[in-house]
Amino acid sequence: MQMTKTGFSYFGVRRPEHVRSDLEAMRSEGSTQVLHTWSEEDLSYYRDTMGRIVEASHDVGLSVYVNSWAVGRVFGGEANSELVAKNPGSCQILSTGEAMPAICPNHPAFQTYMDGWIDAVAGAGADTIFWDEPHFYFRKGRNGEWACRCNVCRALYRDRFGSDMPRESAPEVKLFRQEKLLGLLGRWTARVASHGKRNNICLLPDIFDAGLPDWESVAALPHLDELSSDPYWFDDDPEEKVRSDYSLYAKRLVDLCAARGIEPQMWMKLYRIRKGTEHFAPLAARLSFEAGIRNLMAWSWRASEWMSWLRSDDPAAAHQAMVDEFRNLSNRP
Ligand SMILES: [Zn+2]
Repeated sequence: MQMTKTGFSYFGVRRPEHVRSDLEAMRSEGSTQVLHTWSEEDLSYYRDTMGRIVEASHDVGLSVYVNSWAVGRVFGGEANSELVAKNPGSCQILSTGEAMPAICPNHPAFQTYMDGWIDAVAGAGADTIFWDEPHFYFRKGRNGEWACRCNVCRALYRDRFGSDMPRESAPEVKLFRQEKLLGLLGRWTARVASHGKRNNICLLPDIFDAGLPDWESVAALPHLDELSSDPYWFDDDPEEKVRSDYSLYAKRLVDLCAARGIEPQMWMKLYRIRKGTEHFAPLAARLSFEAGIRNLMAWSWRASEWMSWLRSDDPAAAHQAMVDEFRNLSNRP
């Protein structure tokens, strides 16, 4: 029987003694794993502290994921990025010509930075590196615009297609974006594997124009161990939306991973849970389990009660419902 793995993301506390007592609580609730965020700020100012936090996680019996939290704003997360400010001319340019506060993933400065990030995180003892929602910059609700049309991308596009990069999102632009993000993920996952660590790539659901529409090519990356997704619902979405999205993406992950012999993982939304919808995340976990996924995570621990931007209406109730469902699913064959 395959053991069901469950856990939560954890962030915002950098005093190891306090983190340890939270991790002990997490473990006693039944979690088998934890995800620690590792932002640019963590790399600059908390590097050794992060090592102690990873060590404490292992001490209490949790396996450890670490994610590239909002690094460069090429990845998802609620952290600031200063890479653009430190590398003038490196920002992503929208098809409208507007400069965005995110570094271009194709810029050499970003690639150098990420090599250092990987070496630090692997050196701290993390078990699995979590590539969190890699994407080109997009503005929610703005159709027709896309990134990136910076000088680096335009030169690379010319090398690849022998013509100027258009302003419209032509099929060649879509292919270019996919190829570039895939190439970077190939480079990063290989570097992680060379440290003897595991890789998980978490892909944004289709409604976001991330630039990686072809999940199959991502699943086929040679150093990938796990593929995951996070089809989170919006505030006004009904239960039916949770059902349809989690069923769709769970099946997609299970099918892609079975074909490649890798492990599917699903993320439950456990932030901004509105009063009366505390059963949504347990439902999402159950649907994922029934589709065949045995690696279930929730973002984040205690329903994000300490971060006002993400806080749920009744964090204690939302968290308890998630813990109860994780425990229930862990006991099922
Ligand atoms: Zn660019």
